[in-house]
Amino acid sequence: MLNLLNLLDRDELAKKLRKIDGMGYKRYQIIKGKYQFQNFVLYIDRVQGDPFANPSNVRIKIPQRVAGFPKETFNTKSREIALRDYLTRVLYTQAKKHSRKSGSGYSGMIKVEKPSQKILKRNSAFVNDEWVEIRFRVGLPAHGRRILAAEAERIFMEAIPAISDALRFKNLDEAEVFEHVLIAEDADFLRGLLPSLNLIAFVADGSILPRRSGIDERPLENAIPFESPPSLRVFVELPNKGEITGMGIRRGVTLIVGGGYHGKSTLLKALESGIYNHIPGDGREFVVTNPNAVKIRAEDGRRIEKVDISAFIHNLPFGQDTRAFSTENASGSTSQAANIIEAIEAGAEVLLIDEDTSATNFMIRDFRMQELVPKEIEPITPFIDRVRQLYEMGISTVIVMGGSGDYFDVADCVICMINYKPHDYTEKAKAIAEKFKLRKKEVPVDFKEIKQRIPLIDHKDLSRKDWLKISVKGKNTIMFGKELIDLGCVEQIFEVQQTRAIGYAILQAMKLMDGRKSMKEIVDAVMEEIERDGLDVLGFSEFAIFRGLELAAAINRMRSLRCVLR
Ligand code: ADP
Ligand code: MG
Repeated sequence: MLNLLNLLDRDELAKKLRKIDGMGYKRYQIIKGKYQFQNFVLYIDRVQGDPFANPSNVRIKIPQRVAGFPKETFNTKSREIALRDYLTRVLYTQAKKHSRKSGSGYSGMIKVEKPSQKILKRNSAFVNDEWVEIRFRVGLPAHGRRILAAEAERIFMEAIPAISDALRFKNLDEAEVFEHVLIAEDADFLRGLLPSLNLIAFVADGSILPRRSGIDERPLENAIPFESPPSLRVFVELPNKGEITGMGIRRGVTLIVGGGYHGKSTLLKALESGIYNHIPGDGREFVVTNPNAVKIRAEDGRRIEKVDISAFIHNLPFGQDTRAFSTENASGSTSQAANIIEAIEAGAEVLLIDEDTSATNFMIRDFRMQELVPKEIEPITPFIDRVRQLYEMGISTVIVMGGSGDYFDVADCVICMINYKPHDYTEKAKAIAEKFKLRKKEVPVDFKEIKQRIPLIDHKDLSRKDWLKISVKGKNTIMFGKELIDLGCVEQIFEVQQTRAIGYAILQAMKLMDGRKSMKEIVDAVMEEIERDGLDVLGFSEFAIFRGLELAAAINRMRSLRCVLR
């Protein structure tokens, strides 16, 4: 350990490298440590075991007298998070520029994961009054399994100093840095303003909502800018940008209707994203949503563990209990019901639902079907008959529904998308609802509260040893030991850095599972710990912040989860 505290200088590192040139890869272990360079301190924290293994963890600390960031770029919480996000983006570009495949496996690679267009709290960059710290990974070069010292020297003596230099404030685009942090601050302010305006979301006039494609998050070129209907337009004053206007979506039940391909789902997607801030140029900089808004969808095939879905589904064939419903293979409707109950259990305040990804029989049951199939033999109480009760419990809903006018009865606001522009059709829809009253309300049992579940994870991989391998395969899959957790339908996870953090957070959550604490208590405790002590409490890897709602969603999808009802 003493060795680690020992500050050597850069020449010592060069000497060490030359000494082990051509030797077996394991000899790289001797370079672990801390080295003083002219303008920064280099930390080699972990050295990989072979050229094909997880690349080595390296970080540098640049003193502020060199880095030179003005206080105004990080003197509020929003600005600090945004500056760290910005530095990660510069680091990403720089790492790519200086990366050079130079041998076997990951040899010569300098890497940090690509950030999405969300401005997130990350553990790849830090900043305070004294220094700037950035972290990345280096594939220590080898030919086969023999150390290539010259290449390693290129990385440590040339590439890393160049990266460090590029990160100095004077070498950055000053206007761009300020734009990044001030926009993030404005967006946080705007989101914080929502409750006092009685809103659950705000979509600024001029926003660009559509993306280039399902796999390209950049804004669609030549898109029609968003323009609020006059009746829903709200004026707000932002600390940096000043006054802006946009569409306010009020608490309650909001319906988004309109013809196919007129931009309904695109608007909802923007609301889903509005829980996080976006980088300048994204088009959604001032689209903000209640931070506890959750996308709800059908997800057949998922596992469900003792969820009380009786508000939506009861009297299943052969008397299956739906007050503590479990299945290894949920249907469309049972999965959507469970997704709602679990989201509320974990603290959701707004539900975002799209007909495109919903189970039809969960959403609607029209007059004719009510006549044909009596309520007594239909286990489902459709969402339309619960949405007002949910609102009485404080939960607002935004529903995209182009296919059924039955929802006019229960909506507070009806927004109609025509050629990508929203119109306030509330009055029109209400008049039609008055004129054609056929559908009966069907509410068999009351729905007042959500029972808290006590989770326990009985993990075979953990009972044998107290170490467990956690890895991710893209943003949708966590390998938790041997267990695969499928997050493909948890749509508000936007990058793999978040998925990885969730994977490690599950382990943290498991430590708190004592047979007494509820799911919400456990998830909240983990999130508080991260808030207090940073993402590093999760472990030693590259992470980005996520919500407790997504952590709960991941735990809820584990096949090893067992619950008891409190
Ligand atoms: P809907 O859900 O109403 O069927 P979508 O939201 O899926 O429609 O949008 C249909 C198509 O229109 C998508 O390809 C989307 O990218 C595009 N689109 C959405 N909004 C705009 C816009 N404001 N300007 C240009 N194209 C848009
Ligand atoms: Mg759609």
